[in-house]
Amino acid sequence: MTDNKIEDVVIIGSGPSGWAAAIYTARAELNPLLFEGAINNENYANGLLPLGQLAQTTEVENYPGFPSGDLSGYFNTAFDERKSEELNTTHHKAGVSGPELMELMRQQAKNFGTRVVTDDIASCDLSSRPFTLKSLSGEEIKTKAVIIATGARANYLGLESEDRYKNHGVSACAVCDGALPRFRNQPLVVVGGGDSAMEEASFLTKFASKVYIIHRRDEFRASKIMAERVLANEKIEVKWNSVVDEVLGDEKDGVTGVRIRSTVDKDKTEDLACTGYFAAIGHTPNTSFLDGQIETHENGYIKWTVPFRTNTNIEGVFAAGDVADDNYKQAITAAGSGCQAALDAERWLEEQE
Ligand code: NAP
Repeated sequence: MTDNKIEDVVIIGSGPSGWAAAIYTARAELNPLLFEGAINNENYANGLLPLGQLAQTTEVENYPGFPSGDLSGYFNTAFDERKSEELNTTHHKAGVSGPELMELMRQQAKNFGTRVVTDDIASCDLSSRPFTLKSLSGEEIKTKAVIIATGARANYLGLESEDRYKNHGVSACAVCDGALPRFRNQPLVVVGGGDSAMEEASFLTKFASKVYIIHRRDEFRASKIMAERVLANEKIEVKWNSVVDEVLGDEKDGVTGVRIRSTVDKDKTEDLACTGYFAAIGHTPNTSFLDGQIETHENGYIKWTVPFRTNTNIEGVFAAGDVADDNYKQAITAAGSGCQAALDAERWLEEQE
């Protein structure tokens, strides 16, 4: 990052896609520079701290390679005595947590020489090459290629009580958190009326004793087939024309209920007991620093312009992970597309020479 230096590739973002891109570009000897995000109050309030959404979750049970539970029986039969003893000592019985997984990925990227800067890219000029990026602290970086891996943030209603119980019953990802013990055989609440809310509610019925959907109107936005599946599910009760006023709880137990208010009769409130509250009111991709220079879909997610590739409308700029994915939104798919973006960038750089 010295004056006049032109980087080969700068990666913006520090979720699974950013670290996967860093591991691959570092091993390709492209000496990547990765901006992991700034640590400041604004990013804290907006869920934009380094290491992405996974850093805000608890156990990650669906990322391959980190099984939880007592595996000593397996180790003892599959390995010799010395190796099985070693694995019994080092294996994490709790599997892996989101923050641990991200720290491990970060370290793996650093092991191969990734240079990590704890700052945001605040603006960029992608109109000519080399591209110019400006960090929040005012540094200017020139680079031949860029991998955008800034992810998306879950939308919440913005209630103070929602914030208070995050990781203690408040979540925005049923697939990530739904199977945790606190949500099993208990009533749960899902807020929203789109496909995500339908999907989350249906998924949660595997664990919950009952799922309430709180929706602000009297009809769902969701596709007909998903809405019908929900309405036919005996474990799901829809509270139509209702909004959440407050998430109820205490320090010891986290979420214990929600207070909902009718949108028809504003004086009518009802308290529902539950141990979990899932916001499913959409996500927002983190693209504001691009200032409209990269083509997006109508919903704001970056458009991949070549089938099965991570190219964007600007040659030399690639996008990976949730910032370009409004569909799968999983750690494993984000890591996969980070790898793709690294390979796409590497090949593109080769072609330029
Ligand atoms: P969405 O379609 O934008 O729906 C968001 C829902 O949240 C809407 O019902 C909206 O209510 C509600 N909402 C938004 N802000 C709210 C607020 N402040 N208070 C209360 N309610 C609020 O988002 P999504 O469900 O995440 O879906 C995003 C995209 O992914 C869609 O294109 C969807 O089809 C797709 N998706 C597909 C699948 C699948 O096919 N398997 C699964 C998930 C998502 P209103 O309806 O009143 O506006």
